[in-house]
Amino acid sequence: MDRYDVAVIGAGFGGLAAALTAAEAGAKVALLEQLRYPGGCASTFTRRGARFESGATLFSGFGEGQLFAEWIERLRLPVTFQPLDPVIELRAPGFTLPIPPDRAAFVERVAALPDVPAERARAFFAEQRRVADALWSLFDDPSLLPPLSARAFARHLARAPRYLPLLRHVGRPLERMLRRHGLEGCAPLRTYLDAVCQITVQAGTREVEAPFALGAMDYCFRGTGHVHGGIGELAWALAHAAEARGAALRTSDRVKALTRTPEGWRVDARKGSLLADRVVANLTPHALRRVLGAEVGAHPRLDALAERVERGWGAAMLYLVLEPGAQLRPEAHHLELVVDPGAPFVEGNHLFASISGADEDRSESGGRTVTVSTHVPMERLRAAEDPGAYVARIQQRMREGLATRAPELAAAVREEMTASPRTFERFTGRDFGYVGGIPRRAGLGCYAGLWPRALLPDLWMVGDSVFPGQSTLATALGGVRTTHAMLPTHTPALLPAPAAG
Ligand SMILES: Cc1cc2nc3c(=O)[nH]c(=O)nc-3n(C[C@H](O)[C@H](O)[C@H](O)COP(=O)(O)OP(=O)(O)OC[C@H]3O[C@@H](n4cnc5c(N)ncnc54)[C@H](O)[C@@H]3O)c2cc1C
Repeated sequence: MDRYDVAVIGAGFGGLAAALTAAEAGAKVALLEQLRYPGGCASTFTRRGARFESGATLFSGFGEGQLFAEWIERLRLPVTFQPLDPVIELRAPGFTLPIPPDRAAFVERVAALPDVPAERARAFFAEQRRVADALWSLFDDPSLLPPLSARAFARHLARAPRYLPLLRHVGRPLERMLRRHGLEGCAPLRTYLDAVCQITVQAGTREVEAPFALGAMDYCFRGTGHVHGGIGELAWALAHAAEARGAALRTSDRVKALTRTPEGWRVDARKGSLLADRVVANLTPHALRRVLGAEVGAHPRLDALAERVERGWGAAMLYLVLEPGAQLRPEAHHLELVVDPGAPFVEGNHLFASISGADEDRSESGGRTVTVSTHVPMERLRAAEDPGAYVARIQQRMREGLATRAPELAAAVREEMTASPRTFERFTGRDFGYVGGIPRRAGLGCYAGLWPRALLPDLWMVGDSVFPGQSTLATALGGVRTTHAMLPTHTPALLPAPAAG
């Protein structure tokens, strides 16, 4: 049986980052992926001659010195990042807000919206910025995330005053800050906040944990944009970079069982078994429990994580091919559409629609492709008498929402395919189709698990169910820092050079 230092199960962005980091450290790595292609929820797939983003469509971490930019440059990855302006166009009843990549310009656009008290809005965003700056400096320099070296600890101490603005928000919902600024009745601002929080930290203004929300609100201003040809280009580039550093990339190789033996971890997969000293599982808690053959109750930490995921989301999708020559902006772009801002931002009432660039050659017909998603509350789906009919109703609302808020797009649709949580379950191995990780609802529980810890001896988890959580950048950062914790003597030299400060 082949033997490896590290076996990584799953080539989502958490697993890709872990495999690449371990391979760069000189470890003998196997990366096993059940699909024919890497990327998981952030992949590009081909169906009926067209190429679509499976889930994720808009990506941060490509700014100077940020993780993806650093990899592209240092590893010479054949990936083209395209900055966008606007990054997102938010359309809601009564207003349209193109969100530019420049935050000062953005704040002025918000302040100019009807019914927004300009000075209060500026004060709100000034406070938000202080919190976001403190948090993103951690994202931009992974060596500042736990596990901390003595050097990183000293740098944190030197930065302590910058963290002070954070403290008043810990354990509290964003709603409280909105009230403090006298903005709780400001409908356009609330719509914007609900929209950005729902797609990033997976909860609305009234319930979301403020520091997570305030950090996520900078999403559009931090090296965020489009990957030409689809995010699959980056996923493949990272997989090949790991391979070039000696990793064995095993696609179409589903792991069926994971067993602790006296010789190490035994990984039983479709194409054969292997032994590994350490395993990194890029799996949801439910899926990991399944491959371990563990009952509920066997691993309390895993059960606690699974319970938190269960209060979260699935996704309903429309994958569209447009008529060739459709009269739309030629560059890739993203529309965030709100039908009724007074209703929850789920179940087709809130849509994220991403249109590929005209120059991307995405379909045999020559038409551009579009990925449209909305949140599905999984507690409702699992309680539904007829889950198929429930999802079909959501997909019908999605079509209606497109027709109302993006008629130019709806009119250009030539072909449509749909997906449901059931589809995500089948394709990404996520039991029940849970996506989006753990919603960051207010409470100190949000800060549990900040420090990567092995779940069992030499078994580590990465991906959006563990800190720092949801998004391609967050899961990739999680993969890097988990590998550093797992291979402390191998990896110190691998981090990007720390930014000054
Ligand atoms: C609809 C939607 C829209 C989103 N939009 C954005 C966005 O615009 N921007 C953004 O940054 N993020 C977005 N996200 C979030 C982002 O996609 C995820 O947070 C991230 O991709 C999750 O990565 P992961 O590593 O946790 O897991 P996954 O992507 O789920 O990867 C896990 C991998 O493991 C494989 N696998 C599972 N079981 C096995 C097994 N037994 N054996 C072998 N392989 C296995 C799967 O096939 C998969 O490839 C979106 C997510 C969704 C669902």
